Amino acid sequence: MLSVAKNLIIRSDRKIVLLVADGLGGLPRPSDGRTELEVAKTPNLDKLVSKGIIGLIEPIEAGISPGSGPAHLALFGYDPVEYELGRGVLEVLGLGMELKDGDIAIRGNFATIKDGKIIDRRAGRISTEENRRIISILKENIQRIEDVEIIWESGLEHRFALILRGPGLGDGVSDTDPQKEGLPPLPPEGRDAPSMKTARILSSIIERASKLLQNEEKANFILFRGISKKPDIPTFQDRYRMKALGLANYPMYRGLARLVGMDVPELGYEFERLIDYYEEHYDEYDFIFIHYKWTDKAGEDGDFERKVRYIEEVDSYLPRIISKNPDVFIFTGDHSTPAMWKGHSWHPVPVLIVAENAGVDDACRLTEREARKGYLGLRRSKEIMQIALALSGRLKKFGA
Ligand code: ZN
Repeated sequence: MLSVAKNLIIRSDRKIVLLVADGLGGLPRPSDGRTELEVAKTPNLDKLVSKGIIGLIEPIEAGISPGSGPAHLALFGYDPVEYELGRGVLEVLGLGMELKDGDIAIRGNFATIKDGKIIDRRAGRISTEENRRIISILKENIQRIEDVEIIWESGLEHRFALILRGPGLGDGVSDTDPQKEGLPPLPPEGRDAPSMKTARILSSIIERASKLLQNEEKANFILFRGISKKPDIPTFQDRYRMKALGLANYPMYRGLARLVGMDVPELGYEFERLIDYYEEHYDEYDFIFIHYKWTDKAGEDGDFERKVRYIEEVDSYLPRIISKNPDVFIFTGDHSTPAMWKGHSWHPVPVLIVAENAGVDDACRLTEREARKGYLGLRRSKEIMQIALALSGRLKKFGA
């Protein structure tokens, strides 16, 4: 939040709904020079655009392509650089593990070691079932070291994650993955006293795991990376005085929502279930975040047509969302994932805000081209929450 607004927050009963289509922004395709949003037929969105104001938002800074973690924190109104999320933290959130204050989160890899040297950093990409079998051995045998609880979780193929939970742990610890085959693993090294404790626990885990896994053909060693601490981040309740609900099908987004204090039900992988839940529980919350993942997936796959279809699918759900009459409705993406780019990009993302007295523009479609001319202009993603707070009557006047 920007420094001016910090002390201006007041309570209000007006409701804010934020709908995020992941990776929404796109780029023109060569055949006709039109973007995914320009090609998509979005009658419901068009109606809202004519009532609201639009613009473009930059997730982090000009030219910086973000991950979905920081890009969402920005949409939630947090400076994504101030509250940087470590790789380990994002990994454990992605696997649906719950992080508590003081926890250390770590990305793990199974590897193959021979004569003290790593010969395969990914253990031949063992199957996910193999992974689960081995993690269950580790779970059973390595639960606690000193006063620290060890929590394991399987990922896909050779990946897993780990949480260390206990007093006085630091995250200034080096990776043990030498990043190259033919080299011995590196010892974990701590930069300060709390981090030395973490390093000591990790060394002991590695030693015990090596014994337990010594007869495994491929996964006979473990490597640690991205050792990071849960960020000390204020909740929506404390920061905005809002009770918030986060609705998402994928664990990482539920984890991000939980990190800022939202209530986060687990509803499976159908988007429709999120909307059902939204309708049933709308009255209980001040702020509701709804996440739609599939636009990003299609963009990453470079599938322009499929991304268009997914944008149209999001559009088809808008009447149900809007029928609750939220006082402030925001629709945007966390970042752009142009099909032409096949990945997250830095390009600014179109944003729509519908609220009483929001402002005025002539826009009738939400596209990259139209958004440039909108009332909101070009701004940073983290500012959108501040505008939503103002439009919902949560910011009092600055100065007399
Ligand atoms: Zn994303």
